[in-house]
Amino acid sequence: MENALSIDLEDWYHPQLVRPHVRGTARTSRVVEATERLLELLRKHDVKATFFCVGEVLAEHPELARRIHEAGHEVGFHGMTHRPLGELGPDGFERDLGEFDVLTKGLLGQEVHIRGFRAPTFSLDHRTSWALPMLVSRGYVYDSSVFPMRGPLYGVGGAPLAPYHVAMSDPAVIDPVSSLTEIPPAVFRFRGMRVPVAGGVYLRTLPLRLILAMLGRIQKDRPFVLYVHPWETDPGTPRVDMPVMARLATYHGIRGMFRKLDRMLSTFHFTTVAEVVERWGKRRHVVTDEMTC
Ligand SMILES: [Zn+2]
Repeated sequence: MENALSIDLEDWYHPQLVRPHVRGTARTSRVVEATERLLELLRKHDVKATFFCVGEVLAEHPELARRIHEAGHEVGFHGMTHRPLGELGPDGFERDLGEFDVLTKGLLGQEVHIRGFRAPTFSLDHRTSWALPMLVSRGYVYDSSVFPMRGPLYGVGGAPLAPYHVAMSDPAVIDPVSSLTEIPPAVFRFRGMRVPVAGGVYLRTLPLRLILAMLGRIQKDRPFVLYVHPWETDPGTPRVDMPVMARLATYHGIRGMFRKLDRMLSTFHFTTVAEVVERWGKRRHVVTDEMTC
């Protein structure tokens, strides 16, 4: 089974929990150094990944955008400024989609077509489902924003765990004729609970052996999607003063994360999200053909 590796390309000051505690003058970017290390790691393992990019990061570091693209990785969209969909509203999102299209064509070439989206802070849920038809009308073929469990900051409880064709009116509902595939971040099911093993504090904190066992179990049924941020693998990420729980959720486990990712890349097969979506679609057709024979 080929699994998807996604890297949410943003700087250390973009996350929702961090942003309110950062003073403007303290915003010294570290995204280039942190991403270069990841690109080197991907080269070492000969893995292609999807970089869901914040538009303002690409605009500030055009050379980084070109290096990612020229190395054969997929570029996806992660908002222009990392504001959640609920804050942007439909008009703001439409403007962001247009700006990112112009930006990427200018940086990477007119023939480059962005196919995938991940909402900042997984902010695509029942309140922001208006974003789904907007993605379709812009030619996107998949979305990887619906977190299939409800957490304190985000998530859609009860949403499917495997890739599915998503209904335009409800991100948790399957619509076989929808042209947009939803490919959710990996969640492990255990005794009725859903464990968000795909990334964030769980991936950074849980023991590597346990993570490998859970991911190994998931890939028997479906491809899993991991998400990693460059700042999560960078020991130099500035630590912002904020409430203790937010601090733990944001920074705990950063020191060991790069090595953990190295081991995961040695253990499992990874490729881009677009590739996994395409293969999953073909597999679905194969299964359907067998069933009708
Ligand atoms: Zn993000």
